[in-house]
Amino acid sequence: MTDSNDDPKAPIDPEDDASSSTALGGPDDQSTPDLDDVVLDNLDTGTGDSSDEASRGLFDDLLEGEPIFENKEVLRPSYTPHKLPHREEQINNMATILVTALRGDTPSNILIYGKTGTGKTASAKFVSEELETTSQKYEVPCEVEYINCEVTDTQYRVLAQLANKFINKNLDVIDERIAELEELQSRVRDDPSALDESDYDTVAALEADLADLEADKDEFEEVPMTGWPTDRVYSSFFDAVDYHERVVVIMLDEIDKLVEKSGDDTLYNLSRMNSELENSRVSIMGISNDLKFTDFLDPRVKSSLGEEEIVFPPYDANQLRDILQARADVAFKGNALTEDVIPLCAAFAAQEHGDARRALDLLRTAGELAERDQIDNVEEDHVRQAQEKIELDRVVEVVRTLPTQSKIVLFAIILLEKNGVHNINTGEVFNIYKNLCAEIDADVLTQRRVTDLISELDMLGIVNAVVVSKGRYGRTKEISLSVPTEETEAVLLSDSRLGDIDDVQPFVQARFDN
Ligand code: ADP
Ligand code: MG
Repeated sequence: MTDSNDDPKAPIDPEDDASSSTALGGPDDQSTPDLDDVVLDNLDTGTGDSSDEASRGLFDDLLEGEPIFENKEVLRPSYTPHKLPHREEQINNMATILVTALRGDTPSNILIYGKTGTGKTASAKFVSEELETTSQKYEVPCEVEYINCEVTDTQYRVLAQLANKFINKNLDVIDERIAELEELQSRVRDDPSALDESDYDTVAALEADLADLEADKDEFEEVPMTGWPTDRVYSSFFDAVDYHERVVVIMLDEIDKLVEKSGDDTLYNLSRMNSELENSRVSIMGISNDLKFTDFLDPRVKSSLGEEEIVFPPYDANQLRDILQARADVAFKGNALTEDVIPLCAAFAAQEHGDARRALDLLRTAGELAERDQIDNVEEDHVRQAQEKIELDRVVEVVRTLPTQSKIVLFAIILLEKNGVHNINTGEVFNIYKNLCAEIDADVLTQRRVTDLISELDMLGIVNAVVVSKGRYGRTKEISLSVPTEETEAVLLSDSRLGDIDDVQPFVQARFDN
């Protein structure tokens, strides 16, 4: 992953990358352009006569079919649409609050909530681009800085990134001004009356200003990405922002990740800046997938950040159809989609908490599967296959990134299932778990902790744990695997620590002997 995903126009969304390129992923490669986009236009594929047969290569068959996609890029997460159907209300709310900045006042802080794939990032970027364009049109100094806190996840890094942004902007402004003044200076040298049309009364005043600008230029020192005390980073940022008059909107996307990882110090510091800034004003727009994250905030931060709240509700199936249709019109060749494809993608994604990202992934993957089958139309069945593939990719990714202890617990459950144990209880898992820990030299957690880890696996949808009452023997959990056994085991064994377990059979046997 990169650490510079801070440009609102940068085509990188780490969240999306993480979910799509996985160990068992299909043939799609997120980073390279599609073969058909690059090659097809330059090739005449329709005139192969029999003498060509001998030289038919790996790609000939693939190239011959009618391509399904016209422009696949618009289905990728990196594409920012310019029309966002069913988000008019949220976008208008944001604009109504932020227009204050164009009047030179400080907009209220905004907190945006909504589950993943409800269009928060896309809407916020759209609004920020409009805001900057309009501010340039009317020459009101207003700047928007976007930070993805999933990538930039500590106070130091957030402040350093902001500081460097503003330092560079200031240096540009200074260079421009110096160039202007030097030009004036040289005109005055040729013709002293040139000074009369300028803001300066004397050459000395002009020279003094030039010297000041040069001094300012030397003062702005880039903040290194590690190493300084945080308060020094903060004051660099503070001075850089306050260098001249402007309203700054700081967009902190995935703000819940920042708070989870590093607490609320950053937000505290940012939200109290205005009382000390002399020339500029700062307004914060936080975007969160987690509706409850403000519970972890200092009450002062909470009330300051949540001055205005905008909720992004999940899309329903009809709304998802509209969103998909608009993209499909651009993405696919004329009649490539059969009638049921979009409604089915919409229906699947509506079940997945109304996630537009999922809907678009389904549509793209279905198209890729049809392409691979070398047929001219995307059909309902491709959508079903796409759903399975994406679900499997998700599982693989979730399992791959589990902490080692959770992996061991999951592995224990898999071993039990593979040995025909059903309705597995926590005690059984714990026994196998202990043996596995001993085998790979891992710390052994208490049974209570292991029970917690099982609950977490349940929440992630990897296992299903139901509490059953055993009458006077109390209650116990019955655990079963909710994901495909073979694939999951393969992912676990690809972890170098778990890969060390070569012959696991004896442990299970041992359990039955006990
Ligand atoms: P979030 O930030 O809420 O997780 P995003 O803004 O990243 O969601 O949206 C996920 C994907 O769905 C993106 O590819 C985005 O372009 C698309 N999308 C979301 N809402 C809409 C909409 N109303 N119209 C068109 N595309 C949308
Ligand atoms: Mg987002």
